[in-house]
Amino acid sequence: MLRVAVVGSGPSGCYTAQSLVQQDSEVRVDVLDRLPCPYGLVRYGVAPDHEKIKSLQGTLRAVLEHDRVRFLGGVQVGPGGVPAARLRELYHAVVYCVGAATDRHLGIPGEDLPGSWSATEFVSWYSAHPDAAGGGFLPGARSAVVIGVGNVAVDVTRILARGVTELAPTDMPQAALTALAASGVTDIHMVGRRGPSQARFTTKELRELGALPDTDVVLDPAELALDPGYGDPSALPAAQRRNVEVLRAWAERAPRGAPRRIRPRFFLRPVELLAERGRVGAVRFERTAPDGRGGVRGTGRYEDIGAQLVLRSVGYRGVPLEGLPFDADSGTVPHLAGRVLREGVVTPGEYVAGWIKRGPTGVIGTNRPCAKETVLSLLEDAPVLERQDVPEDPLTALRAAGAEPVGWPGWQAIERAEADLGASLGRSVVKLPDWESLLAAARAAGSW
Ligand code: NAP
Repeated sequence: MLRVAVVGSGPSGCYTAQSLVQQDSEVRVDVLDRLPCPYGLVRYGVAPDHEKIKSLQGTLRAVLEHDRVRFLGGVQVGPGGVPAARLRELYHAVVYCVGAATDRHLGIPGEDLPGSWSATEFVSWYSAHPDAAGGGFLPGARSAVVIGVGNVAVDVTRILARGVTELAPTDMPQAALTALAASGVTDIHMVGRRGPSQARFTTKELRELGALPDTDVVLDPAELALDPGYGDPSALPAAQRRNVEVLRAWAERAPRGAPRRIRPRFFLRPVELLAERGRVGAVRFERTAPDGRGGVRGTGRYEDIGAQLVLRSVGYRGVPLEGLPFDADSGTVPHLAGRVLREGVVTPGEYVAGWIKRGPTGVIGTNRPCAKETVLSLLEDAPVLERQDVPEDPLTALRAAGAEPVGWPGWQAIERAEADLGASLGRSVVKLPDWESLLAAARAAGSW
């Protein structure tokens, strides 16, 4: 009987556990997470107003409640926690499903000025991630620049434009809701360095921006027309064609004079963040032009867009894991069908799935076939993985290594505390925003 540790309880971790128990009738799986809460980016990345995607938690919950799967929250693997080498001794196999934990950098002057944040910091804040920065995004800001035109850029743009009436029914933490309700941001510039036909957002997400109450989408048709696909989108692949058509329809409609404006911009490459009284005051962009090969070239012409808030939304990036090889260019762990490769050689017993395996792309469902591939590799390796010295229950050894796992009852106690908090505020569920309150709720349940 195989014992497998899955590190990370986001979609890729849960789909890995699901695939394991579906394909092996005896395997036992511990799903470890450094947070006391499961679901990874479904809880801490999917925007709070995307209830339909959030409801995927129900599917992931069923996996973690399977009788051969166990959730062990609050367990850090690596420095400061359970050493990766110790984990390998405790299980026949370890599957790392740790995602891409940090954000990519622009590498331009002024990037670190006060008022300039990564979009992931903003997302973490309004999603109540316990490691999030404590606010400070919005005070004094009237104009915001979002750099990048992927789905995260669309998320943060939409949240900045939404009113309190639409956000109050979500599980957004109270402090973020209060701050967004008091926000003075009226103009949100979402800026791509390439053209509309090369934007990374998906049409469904893009369309939502045009349906927000009290918000106009303002576009310059002349800027859109710089895209070779703009005049005749029929030649573009379907997904790109739909994006261009949505943008074109918006460019043709007259603004309604709404109090907030979303301004999608294209062919502008950020070159510098400019300071004003010690904080960001504007972003300098160079106008680009298509290079005919899907990329862009600089034109030597510049434009400054005033902004007191800058959100850099240029993608996530994987971070190296203790004891595992790492490809710094792609931010992933080298692998062969999910088997970790050390200097090109497979190491049975160590596997990866999700963003740390294939990079930060794709939608949540992409993780299902990705996890399945890894699990097939793992189960093929089973004959060489079976060892007698694996403990019957690794929990004691994990505790001896300093871990204090929050089990499923602890997580359920957190859920109850969040429902209680919501009721006390006249809202539905409201997320607990810090380590202290999460751990207090979990421990009150008396759970291990
Ligand atoms: P992304 O899709 O990779 O988009 C990154 C954006 O940043 C692109 O527009 C990219 O432009 C731009 N960029 C990169 N480096 C830049 C630079 N140096 N200067 C200016 N712009 C730069 O990343 P993401 O938005 O973080 O999304 C990550 C993944 O999560 C995606 O697969 C996304 O679909 C998914 N996601 C999905 C949802 C949803 O389904 N609702 C919500 C959120 C996230 P170039 O194209 O020119 O490189």
